[in-house]
Amino acid sequence: LEVIRRSDPRIADAISSELTDQRESLKLIASENYASPAVLLAMGNWLSDKYAEGTAGRRFYAGCRNVDTVEALAAEYARDLFGARHAYVQPHSGIDANLVAYWAVLAQKVESPALAKAGVRGVNDLGDADWARLRADLGDQRMLGMSLDAGGHLTHGFRPNISGKMFDQRSYGTDPATGLLDYAAVREAAREFRPLILVAGYSAYPRLVNFRIMREIADEVGATLMVDMAHFAGLVAGRVLTGDFDPVPHAQIVTTTTHKSLRGPRGGMVLCDDEFADSVDRGCPLVLGGPLPHVMAAKAIALGEARRPEFRDYAARVVDNSRALAEGLLRRSATLVTGGTDNHLVIIDVSRYGLTGRQAESALLDAGIVTNRNAIPRDPNGAWYTSGVRIGTPALTTRGFGTAEMDEIAELIDQVLHGTEPAPGKDGRPSQALYRLKDGLAEHISGRAA
Ligand code: PLP
Repeated sequence: LEVIRRSDPRIADAISSELTDQRESLKLIASENYASPAVLLAMGNWLSDKYAEGTAGRRFYAGCRNVDTVEALAAEYARDLFGARHAYVQPHSGIDANLVAYWAVLAQKVESPALAKAGVRGVNDLGDADWARLRADLGDQRMLGMSLDAGGHLTHGFRPNISGKMFDQRSYGTDPATGLLDYAAVREAAREFRPLILVAGYSAYPRLVNFRIMREIADEVGATLMVDMAHFAGLVAGRVLTGDFDPVPHAQIVTTTTHKSLRGPRGGMVLCDDEFADSVDRGCPLVLGGPLPHVMAAKAIALGEARRPEFRDYAARVVDNSRALAEGLLRRSATLVTGGTDNHLVIIDVSRYGLTGRQAESALLDAGIVTNRNAIPRDPNGAWYTSGVRIGTPALTTRGFGTAEMDEIAELIDQVLHGTEPAPGKDGRPSQALYRLKDGLAEHISGRAA
């Protein structure tokens, strides 16, 4: 840090302040974790300075032998860990991994002269006329994915994301009575809509998905099943999710981030059958520029760590902790989406406390509990204010927290939410963002902290 401080003290301060924040708070954001020192150090070195467009052994730049070693090892560890036929470890993020996967399916399944041209020249070189031709060629390619309020991700075909502009999207939701994925409804939607790609996977669904059934549905309508396991990759790696709940044997393409429950560097990855391997490897230049060799090195380290027996123990404890947290909250009469959890995350419906998700998130942050607000199914407060708060256990499990601590955290969350109320805005009308502590809570919290 001293070297950074000599270069720019304000950046050094921000880094050390981040360490303090992450140490002194309870990190319950379901998509965050603490990577190991080996993972962090693998990212801060000379590999970062190297350009290496292409794939291992087939580069557009000279002098890539060390990057070849790193990329080949990361891919080998990924194939081995997940039992995948092919692994592409270059995507810089989860969004990139999904785009690579979508274009691979389009390239494979859709006859398009404009698309072939795009593959040769690179998407960045396409002019407006090329894009118009491409869109016309692709016609109304369809994607079926989980709705945002049921827990799907923006990259699963929603308008603010490029996937929603590339595809005509329809979503499947959850059963209003149980909050659970309704496979019969997914099947019906697939039969009617006939998507090119059926996307499974989520950012905010607290239960398991049966990927065998999803593959059956995809096969029935001639769709490719793509599973985005960004959130639960660590549970797959740690063999908590097996059989019907392990996406790799069932989906033709699986994408993931490497930084959430998998505990690696920020980044993405695509696993696929042989059928899609060549198209996926064209991620650069179709979607990506030069890979990030230092991040691929960190991916290799994290994948290597996830192959060790300790990681299985970690993954099992993530779910034990999540269940303990859910049970602790339920005992204190919280309302949870689907009534509980089977994975690493829990969604609290905070309307029960008379709060919006935004108010609850802010009040919890004030108490040192870091979470994020999240829409719940059919959310009356929309995607900005929301009625939910998402919490997850991957990070605190890495810090060694167990089920007894989860019960204490449930108590703290319940105290804070019960002790918070909406505050009126300047105009005196109720606000969806402002909040205040009810009498006595501030003293109570500082008393506990002391
Ligand atoms: N897919 C899912 C299911 C996610 O939850 C996320 C991130 O929140 C992404 C993709 C995107 O990942 P990234 O932020 O690395 O682009």
